[in-house]
Amino acid sequence: MTRTLTILGATGSIGRSTADVVLAQPEAFRVEAVVGGRDAAALAAMARRLGARFAALADERSGGALREALSGTGIGNGAGSSAVLEAVARDADTVLAAISGTAGLAPTHAALKPGRRLALANKESLVCAGAAFMADARRLGVEIMPVDSEHNALDQALAAGRNADVEKAIITATGGPFRTTPREQIAKASAKEASAHPVWSMGSKINIDSATLMNKGLELIEAHHLFDLEADRLDVLVHPEAIVHGLVQWSDGAVTAGLALPDMKVPIANALRNQGRLQMDLPRLDLAAIGRLSFERPDEERFPCLSLAKAALRAGGAMPTILNAANEIAVEAYMAGRVGFYHISEMVEQVCSSFSGRGLAAPATVAEALAIDEETRQAARQLAAAFTETTRL
Ligand code: NAD
Ligand code: MG
Repeated sequence: MTRTLTILGATGSIGRSTADVVLAQPEAFRVEAVVGGRDAAALAAMARRLGARFAALADERSGGALREALSGTGIGNGAGSSAVLEAVARDADTVLAAISGTAGLAPTHAALKPGRRLALANKESLVCAGAAFMADARRLGVEIMPVDSEHNALDQALAAGRNADVEKAIITATGGPFRTTPREQIAKASAKEASAHPVWSMGSKINIDSATLMNKGLELIEAHHLFDLEADRLDVLVHPEAIVHGLVQWSDGAVTAGLALPDMKVPIANALRNQGRLQMDLPRLDLAAIGRLSFERPDEERFPCLSLAKAALRAGGAMPTILNAANEIAVEAYMAGRVGFYHISEMVEQVCSSFSGRGLAAPATVAEALAIDEETRQAARQLAAAFTETTRL
């Protein structure tokens, strides 16, 4: 069976790994459409490389550049949000959703069509609007395959039993670049230092989230929605080698784990598989060569973002939506060098507590989630400006 595939975020880190998977077994895929953010040249190159039929750029102003770069190829193209939605609406049995951040929510949600498979990398969709998103996916009969490595491993491990028999589902974290760095030193870290991930090579926003461990917090919320597991059946374990990605502890004491070398092509290939698995010519896991695997508990004192995310998951309602929006603004301010590392968690905490009194319910629709997201961003931007002032003083 050939999969017809549309890739959202085709020029990013996950998008490029997806292209490698597709081209490793070209007879298994036909690429319908590719979507990118701003870079017309990169998107045009990707569309040509994959033989896509249509390419859409989110940024309207770069439409001319895209048209020029694709002229004579016969590849249809367009720019702006309507072009992105056109790409999403085109016939494809599988959509791989890898736009970064909450910007990915609307196009990823629009990709939910009856009978489709959604290979989901954009975790922010589930963190921002998880309940509404999953309800729509169920109603439309969309099969969701997690691309995030931890969830992909959990998905495979969970196949060994029933949800009711899961005592704990555990996702691992490498610990990021500051795993062993003292707090005083982390406090002074620049965005460049925070971006130097020890194992994975990823986009810039998720890199910072990995340094703060917010990424793992977002992943707990993601796991909650994907697998219908409540907060006290979810846990995080630090594992610097990044070989074991997810573990399921069953009611009888048995543990089923998902292992692989840390290469996103492995979970992507699994998320895109047919009845059988794809044949991937990647290095094989050699445990004897690795020799030892190590594990430790996460230090929530040095990485307060993890406990903030856990608190948001436990609080429920709109708290994960608020946490996610506040974090995106805080990370933006940090990447721009306007605030320090621990201002990220301070900002998230302050924004979350300023909204907590309102007891907002979990958004029932994606539109509602986006409205709460926008309101939170405004509050977070004001706070970021105030933090920037005090940082300068
Ligand atoms: P990235 O920054 O490398 O790529 C993002 C992609 O989205 C690019 O193609 C960019 O052009 C596109 N984009 C950005 N804004 C857009 C918009 N408004 N409309 C349309 N396209 C837009 O990010 P990434 O590391 O590839 O991550 C993508 C998603 O996958 C994120 O949600 C991330 O959390 C998730 N994820 C990534 C990894 C990883 O290893 N990189 C692992 C697990 C999950
Ligand atoms: Mg992950």
